[in-house]
Amino acid sequence: MMSKKHNFVRVRFAPSPTGPLHLGGIRTALYNYLFAKKYGGSFVLRIEDTDRKRFVPNSESYIMETLKWCQIEPDEGAGYGGIHLPYHQSQRGNIYRLYISKLLEKGHAYYAFDTDKELYIKRKEYQNRGFTFSYNASIRMDMNNSLTMTKKKLYTKLNSGSSYVIRFKIPPGEKLKMEDMIRGNIVVNTDSLDDKILLKSNGIATYHLANTIDDYLMKITHVIRGEEWLPSMSLHLLLYRAFGWNPPIFAHLPLILREDGKGKLSKRNVDNFLDFPIFPLQWKVPETNTIIPGYRELGYFPEAFVNMLALLGWNPGIPGEIFSLQELINLFSLKKITKSGVYFNIKKANWFNKQYLKEKKGEIFSYLSIELQKRSISYEIDDLYKIIHLTIDRLHFVHEIWEHSFYFFISPSSYESSLFNQICHQNIIDQLEDCKKSLSNISQFTSVNLRLLFHKYNKKNRYKMMQIFRLALVGSLKGTDLFMILEILGKEKSIQRIDKLMKKIREKI
Ligand code: GLU
Repeated sequence: MMSKKHNFVRVRFAPSPTGPLHLGGIRTALYNYLFAKKYGGSFVLRIEDTDRKRFVPNSESYIMETLKWCQIEPDEGAGYGGIHLPYHQSQRGNIYRLYISKLLEKGHAYYAFDTDKELYIKRKEYQNRGFTFSYNASIRMDMNNSLTMTKKKLYTKLNSGSSYVIRFKIPPGEKLKMEDMIRGNIVVNTDSLDDKILLKSNGIATYHLANTIDDYLMKITHVIRGEEWLPSMSLHLLLYRAFGWNPPIFAHLPLILREDGKGKLSKRNVDNFLDFPIFPLQWKVPETNTIIPGYRELGYFPEAFVNMLALLGWNPGIPGEIFSLQELINLFSLKKITKSGVYFNIKKANWFNKQYLKEKKGEIFSYLSIELQKRSISYEIDDLYKIIHLTIDRLHFVHEIWEHSFYFFISPSSYESSLFNQICHQNIIDQLEDCKKSLSNISQFTSVNLRLLFHKYNKKNRYKMMQIFRLALVGSLKGTDLFMILEILGKEKSIQRIDKLMKKIREKI
């Protein structure tokens, strides 16, 4: 149920341009999109680019292209416009400085002048005594900050251009009650929190400050984001309270875990050569120009990818697994998101693609005809459709059609040795000669008639002959129904291929 406070849903996807999105990131975007559409609300794209050190060129265009490919485009935000411009945090510095001055005025934040060296010494001191240093209520009054100096000294310091950060003054000794739509009630003792930096010494707002202010100013009603941000929720709630604002509703999504038990999926996994893709689209690593393929380039359909991703941590509550985007929107509910981490399984992703492939005969046809044109092979349109119909159940991806159908167009140039070596005997030649005669005599070269032809052999011999035929036609023991291969190849080509195999056998014996 929607809270009464929020009668108009506004959610946001707020990526930092620090590289390509991985599966978890795009799933966050998807859940935000589904939630917004379900309630007729707005899906906003905000680019959280305050940390220039972690900025990676092209990430923003990558994010936009991914959302487009998945057909989950924002209604508002970076690249889309809207009344809450600008949507890049790097262009909102003045807004953050204005709001931080309010926190300073109200006594919720303070200037801290501690140098790196001073902090290092303190940290060491604590360590030597067996404690961990945390800049919080128990320590702040011993530090070099505006709480421990006179107003006059503060102004002198500020006027002299001393370097400072602005920290949030966490109220001590409070059991902060929080509610997360997925995780339920959580209590955090504020003594476990530290006085986080809100404004860095270069005058730039940190994520916590910028994120909170923007969610408020952009009228975000629900913050749906990854579990890695759950530890920040207490600080964010305290910030809302300090500003005197109503907080949005929070929902932290479960992590996506690797099936091999090696922890969560992350961008870092790419360096470890995972055997499955982690990015939606291909990514060119700026330093090395290496291209890491994404789901799109590997042949996944966006609908299949989105369908798979939607069920990775959310249960539609009804039987079945194949849902269109509109169905996902209708069914979506934050209540049905799982609390625990979800395992990613590439086989399942491939299965989803296969389900969508069934409706993509036209795409398979185009792909196959291009492959044939590239090789200057002529073909009958009807044959292509027959071949697609015969092989589609073996495919997960459009491009796999070629490896499952090339033998219809190209006569084998070599034969799988394990069987070939076994059949290099004169009696096989005799049998093949005999079969050839029967084939020539068939007036209607259809799979039904061809099947009957093999009935003259006893079961064991029939099987053997069929294998030899397959070897002659395909070059290996792979391929679809033998009689359909014969029918599609036609009498002339089939006999030519049998002759070719006989020639090879003769050369060997
Ligand atoms: N900029 C954060 C990220 O890159 C967003 C966290 C949030 O949604 O609050 O994931």
